[in-house]
Amino acid sequence: FSKVVVVTGGVHGIGRCLAEAFAAKGAHVAVIDRAGEEGARLASSLPGGGHLFVHGDVGKKEDLEAFAAQVLTRYGHVDVLVNNACFSKGGLLGGCSYDDFLEVLCVGVAAPYELARLFMDRFGEGGAIVNIASTRAEQSMPDTESYSAAKGGIVALTHAMAMSMASRGIRVNCISPGWIQTEAAGAALSEADERQHPAGRAGVPEDVAKLALFLCGPDAGFINAQNVTADGGMSRQMIYHGEHGWSYCLGE
Ligand code: NAD
Repeated sequence: FSKVVVVTGGVHGIGRCLAEAFAAKGAHVAVIDRAGEEGARLASSLPGGGHLFVHGDVGKKEDLEAFAAQVLTRYGHVDVLVNNACFSKGGLLGGCSYDDFLEVLCVGVAAPYELARLFMDRFGEGGAIVNIASTRAEQSMPDTESYSAAKGGIVALTHAMAMSMASRGIRVNCISPGWIQTEAAGAALSEADERQHPAGRAGVPEDVAKLALFLCGPDAGFINAQNVTADGGMSRQMIYHGEHGWSYCLGE
């Protein structure tokens, strides 16, 4: 897998695991992340060599342009682009402002578009893009508008880009993770946290990384423009009070 793989937000969480997984397969990994200090140590701590870390904010057009220029100067081309970086600024109930909302859309939707645009003529043969969405593109809780809108946007962006990129031989797919326990999530999971998933456990970053590796590899050559859910079955579960161990707590 001697490929050039670009990962946004690759310093922590799922992005870190993605960077490690591709590097372990022999890829040169180029990461952009706004976490500068830890990022500076990232390139030397990944398996293999020839990796690149660029400190930058994918919500800023000039940072994306500078990053793309550095990647292309260093490697000449890219094979895989993983658009992973995103976050939430809440929604209507928690005071997410217009500017907050736009920031999440910039990071979660405009940045993936812009990176695809900056790299589109420089993909190697059999190129692939994987966008990281969320099951929250389809399901919501109160006060999640900025995040849900960004995730709905990247799901639609995926199939649109797949059509545009088809003539270049680049496949574009999307992964919608459910609950993935990262270091940022903090506290240990309770038995109920785990068992509420039909798979009997919450997800780990490796669940996403393995799927991304598959989607970018030759065995997934006929999988294109899809949104693949990795949530242990959680979003397909029917829940009624009093059935199958579920109970609704009135007032909560
Ligand atoms: P995380 O917060 O643990 O890590 C995100 C990484 O992205 C960090 O290194 C952070 O510094 C970087 N980042 C954030 N904003 C950035 C920006 N503007 N510019 C550059 N770097 C930036 O997040 P995570 O839980 O690993 O999530 C990764 C992706 O997976 C996100 O798109 C998230 O929406 C999605 N996701 C996560 C879960 C989950 O349960 N963890 C579930 C569904 C989807």
